Amino acid sequence: MKNTNEMELIFDSKSVNEGFARVAVAAFMTQLNPTLEEVADVKTAVSEAVTNAIIHGYEKKVEKIRIHCRLEEQILYIEVEDHGKGIEDIEQAMQPLFTSKPELERSGMGFSFMEAFMDDIVVESEPKKGTVVKMYKEIGKGRELWTIQSL
Ligand code: ATP
Ligand code: MG
Repeated sequence: MKNTNEMELIFDSKSVNEGFARVAVAAFMTQLNPTLEEVADVKTAVSEAVTNAIIHGYEKKVEKIRIHCRLEEQILYIEVEDHGKGIEDIEQAMQPLFTSKPELERSGMGFSFMEAFMDDIVVESEPKKGTVVKMYKEIGKGRELWTIQSL
């Protein structure tokens, strides 16, 4: 049987909670024995997704953001969900440098960072219904091989 573990967080869409969310996910993943770099990658991805929910999804209105994390062996699955305004054109939104808020000096790189730091990311969204960002990362990839070779 697969070794699994799961947790869910629901919190207000306030920017003070962005730090809380990424630290909570980082704490949850420590059981996989991650490197500092892997933890930093996941924290960045969570932080980008949560910031997007706060700024774009709810446009500063205070509503709920849900994070669901699941571990299956060495793979960490994360979902970040809001019930905010949603995304009309997901493909365009995910293009590097695309932002709908250039006036706020956003760089349009949030999704690109999530893609770069996680193994894969899928975005599901519907206007006026909300957005779910689903991503996963395998922790400890190739580490055993490295250990054997270094003997
Ligand atoms: P940056 O993340 O670099 O500060 P950004 O947030 O504009 O800038 P991305 O994170 O790549 O860039 O997001 C691209 C665009 O996708 C956003 O400008 C916004 O239009 C849309 N978007 C992203 N997340 C959401 C969301 N949760 N709800 C609604 N729209 C979103
Ligand atoms: Mg962003």
